[in-house]
Amino acid sequence: MKTKKKIIKNIEKPIQKYRFLIQLCFAALCIWIGYDFFRFAHFLEMNGNAEFFNRPPGVDGFLPISSMMSFYYFISTGIIHPAHPAGMFIFLAIVLASIVFGKSFCSWLCPIGFISELVGDFGEKIFKRKLKLPKWIDIPLRSLKYFLLGFLLYAVFVLMDLVAVKAFLDSPYNQVADLKMYYFFADISKTTLIVIGSLFVLSIFIRNFWCRFLCPYGALLGLFSFLSPNKIKRNPVTCIDCGLCAKACPSSIKVDKVITVLSDECNTCLSCVDACPVEDTLDLKFILTKKKISKKIVAIGVVSIFMAVTGFAMITGHWQNNISKDEYLVHYKLMDTYGHPTGTAAVKEFDKNAEEKNLQNESSFTNKNAKKNYSNINKSSFQKRTN
Ligand code: SF4
Ligand code: SF4
Repeated sequence: MKTKKKIIKNIEKPIQKYRFLIQLCFAALCIWIGYDFFRFAHFLEMNGNAEFFNRPPGVDGFLPISSMMSFYYFISTGIIHPAHPAGMFIFLAIVLASIVFGKSFCSWLCPIGFISELVGDFGEKIFKRKLKLPKWIDIPLRSLKYFLLGFLLYAVFVLMDLVAVKAFLDSPYNQVADLKMYYFFADISKTTLIVIGSLFVLSIFIRNFWCRFLCPYGALLGLFSFLSPNKIKRNPVTCIDCGLCAKACPSSIKVDKVITVLSDECNTCLSCVDACPVEDTLDLKFILTKKKISKKIVAIGVVSIFMAVTGFAMITGHWQNNISKDEYLVHYKLMDTYGHPTGTAAVKEFDKNAEEKNLQNESSFTNKNAKKNYSNINKSSFQKRTN
């Protein structure tokens, strides 16, 4: 006969209020960056005949593909590419946070995740419940973000070699990718507006529609989260099977049915931990020692990793890019002519052109140091081809 266990009430304070405050601060930081960038763009629009405002380097955080390529370039060559160095460090901070605390960036720092959450809360208020798609639609839709990620990784790591990656990072398109992105939203087209509006409406019905089904960045972080040694763990001995944890989970994970949450959709929001009514029954734990990790440590940890990595970039002079005011003024006039390869064939063509250009450059180089850097790149790219 099953003996009745004594239930000890969970009196630990919830962390959601602090999570909301952290999300709010990061959203405010992004608005601040956006406003600074607007003033910088205004200077360019006025052809330099207006007060100059420095470009805020934090805008690089909105260029995930360029940042990922910079990171790849850095780990392959040891060189920090100077076009968007802040982006590379922001990317590194986000990946590190995912390796330590799972997909925590999505639920603690990401402004899009924050907006999605607010819209989802609004939807739940209207419908008085969490709407879920049936499994047969949910699973294929969830794989869409992996297809998008797969294509990006294939284009960067398979179709392009290191010479082509460098050529892309050096390209005028990459140098003004932030401005291109700014005008994409500032001069928003009808189609883009319809797409964003649709995502917004869909997020009212289906919580985190963009994050759950389409965000390739979230997909990448979900993969890194599997490396995290800290997981949500349920104690089946003290669990009373109330199901409150599963009900609270914004990612619709069946927390009440597993011992350890091993899901790429878990974003370490700790809502389930807060919802559990029994003490020491559901916690984030270090899987090797089974030691409980306090909720405050997660909050402080995620923010600290982000601040430490970006702070390191600032202190060591790898935050600002090396593009001068005058160069930006020239780029601004020409930027409508700048493009980037789209599709497999175009990426292959780009790779081929970069290779040819590099060979021409090699034969005309006189600067010894520059020649050394390029031959290192060639060596790595050759190794990559032969592997
Ligand atoms: S399992 Fe828990 S921590 Fe993970 S997403 Fe769901 S509620 Fe958040
Ligand atoms: S909230 Fe989840 S883990 Fe906690 S007692 Fe209820 S079912 Fe068990």
